[in-house]
Amino acid sequence: MNPLWLPYLWNALVAWAAAFLAALWMALVLWAYRDMRARHRARWAALLAAATVLVLNVPGVVVYLLLRPPYTLEEAYRRALEEEALLETLDEVQRCPGCTRRVQPDWVLCPSCFTRLKKTCHHCGRLMELAWTVCPYCGTPVPGARKEGLVPSDVLPVQSEQPPDAEAPDEDAS
Ligand SMILES: [Zn+2]
Ligand SMILES: [Zn+2]
Repeated sequence: MNPLWLPYLWNALVAWAAAFLAALWMALVLWAYRDMRARHRARWAALLAAATVLVLNVPGVVVYLLLRPPYTLEEAYRRALEEEALLETLDEVQRCPGCTRRVQPDWVLCPSCFTRLKKTCHHCGRLMELAWTVCPYCGTPVPGARKEGLVPSDVLPVQSEQPPDAEAPDEDAS
């Protein structure tokens, strides 16, 4: 190779390296701007991130990576949705299985679609899940629990034990 060409070759290499570094720098500035746009709604935050990288170069990228918001807006939105879904499953027991409207845990009937939600114990009168075959409070088995469907007499107080002249007429209200 002709030695006379070496300085030109060197200059060309330096120019290429400088152009590459400049392009890389600008790309980092653009990346910081776009990355911050995805993480923050305000445009000034993205401009600040781009300016940081523009002024500080690679150390600016390090500073930006340390200070940027941990989640993009999309990630934050997805996490919010997941948390909402989790909360939904947590209070799913408080939704009517018939119409999915919210119901209170101590309701025996859905006021919207009249789906039966709970039953009362024959003995102690406390609320029980429909699937339970024995009262967890007093241990009284549910009569006719092995039947497929429940009939109103399973839920209402047994008439033979409470004649109309019984001393506690308030029980009819429950
Ligand atoms: Zn309902
Ligand atoms: Zn009971």
